[in-house]
Amino acid sequence: MERLQKIIAQAGIASRRKSEQLIRDGLVQVNGEIVKELGVKADPAVDIITVNGQKINSEKKIYLIMNKVKGVITSLEDPQGRKTILDFLPGIKERVYPIGRLDYDTEGLLLLTNDGEFANMLTHPSYQVPKTYHATVKGVPHGTLLEKLANGVELEDGMTAPARVEYHDVDTEKKVATISITIYEGRNRQVRRMFAAIGHEVTLLKRVQYGDVTLQQLRRGKFRHLHQFEIESLL
Ligand code: URA
Repeated sequence: MERLQKIIAQAGIASRRKSEQLIRDGLVQVNGEIVKELGVKADPAVDIITVNGQKINSEKKIYLIMNKVKGVITSLEDPQGRKTILDFLPGIKERVYPIGRLDYDTEGLLLLTNDGEFANMLTHPSYQVPKTYHATVKGVPHGTLLEKLANGVELEDGMTAPARVEYHDVDTEKKVATISITIYEGRNRQVRRMFAAIGHEVTLLKRVQYGDVTLQQLRRGKFRHLHQFEIESLL
């Protein structure tokens, strides 16, 4: 048995607080009865719970990690008919969605789940999970520029928060470098815009770590279920 607001939030309908409001507003029914008090518990496997007349699903919660390839969009459908991450999840029948986004041309670690509360929590701006990227850039940026990135650069939408930045691989002959950068926020195209702000265009971007979770041996374009310890490490 779990509190109704928790069940609703876990079904991905709304945040915990919004779910409480839905209950107070009389929009939630358990086995055909309107429930307006917040303390009421129910069993999602047995009780029929509806929000606004819609039965909420009580699917088993699943947590996946994918090694996304370039040229794939991180949404579930694309009006332009491009490949989506769903094309890379054979055999998964649950309605999973990505936790955050990666650009069309960004590769690497993407988490997916059907646990709405887990996804809402991880993507909330106050919950700053460190995310590490390997950014291959044109030219070899000087150390002082990397220091600048680490301290914060001015973007259109304001200064970036402090980041961890270090050289990962440098090829002085070819004049390219791969920089490891860990950020604690997740603005749109943030890493690409940060490097553009120091005058180095990103040619390849790969996310390699999310919190303590890494791809390990996961091959490009493949997915696996997260281990329990990996899920717990994100909470
Ligand atoms: N930063 C970017 O610029 N792109 C991504 O896909 C992720 C972070």
